[in-house]
Amino acid sequence: VLIPLLGLGLAVYFYSGPGNFNEEMLRGKRVIVTGASSGIGEQMAYHLARMGAHVLLTARTEAKLQKVVDKCLDLGAASARYVSGSMESTAFAEEVVKEAEITWGGLDMLILNHIGYSYFNFFNGDVDHVRKVMETNFLSYVAMTVSALPMLKESEGSIVVVSSVSGKVASPFTAPYSATKFALEGFFSSLRHEFIIENVNVSITLCILGYINTENAVRAVSHVIKVAPAPKEECALEIIRSGALRQRELHYPASTVTPAVLLRDFAPDFLDGLIRSNHQVENIKRA
Ligand code: NDP
Repeated sequence: VLIPLLGLGLAVYFYSGPGNFNEEMLRGKRVIVTGASSGIGEQMAYHLARMGAHVLLTARTEAKLQKVVDKCLDLGAASARYVSGSMESTAFAEEVVKEAEITWGGLDMLILNHIGYSYFNFFNGDVDHVRKVMETNFLSYVAMTVSALPMLKESEGSIVVVSSVSGKVASPFTAPYSATKFALEGFFSSLRHEFIIENVNVSITLCILGYINTENAVRAVSHVIKVAPAPKEECALEIIRSGALRQRELHYPASTVTPAVLLRDFAPDFLDGLIRSNHQVENIKRA
């Protein structure tokens, strides 16, 4: 009980950004959301639509994206459109940003959220798979950032990177995925320094998420992970809020993520033991 409480207090202290969030902050803003056909990305699209933003959504499945776009228009989006394709290719990542430039002539917020499929099991030694998830989960984030930067500099906008507690503290059965999330922190934290050195007024928010109740996550891990997942709707709102407030980092849910991040450096073996005890390893079927 004490550890989550301490975590919550410290999370509020360290990570609450300047000023108060007001949904009007997003009205009329031009926002790209990747991985928006399902899960947290879909929920972010709905919140942004309700707040009156322009949204450009992307993922692979056109039929799902069309439904999300229709709902965004019903909810009051200033405009809503999609581009479908796979982020395995950096050329597609660049094409999405180009679409924003052609349609809007600018961009206020880039929300990088998609992930490609990876297995939840013992590492199987497949190096090509690691390369593929690095391309989808990491390199495409870099490519989109590079393409979007001139527009974001112009608007003094924001980059929001959706990462995971697996990008701060490793758990078993997620080696390729975890590697991509650790890479995001290294890349974007270095970039943040350079923005400050060069007076580039573009914020970078890293979102460290715990277990969230999206269909894909629950299907992949619920037979092994004992903790209850947090709601995707609230998670999506917190991501938008932290991006709009230009916070450095979001921990959601703070009650589990912040204690893990704090324990990582001063009690790593204790934390690793806790993590393993939260996994029902006997339910993992080796591939
Ligand atoms: P989902 O699996 O629900 O959604 C993933 C999205 O990415 C979908 O829109 C999917 O659409 C898209 N996608 C998948 N493969 C590709 C591809 N090759 N190219 C382009 N788009 C692709 O994920 P969540 O909502 O659960 O997760 C969202 C983010 O939150 C991720 O960054 C994840 O790491 C992070 N996170 C989630 C946690 C959770 O418990 N849910 C925990 C910690 C972090 P389509 O298949 O149509 O392409």
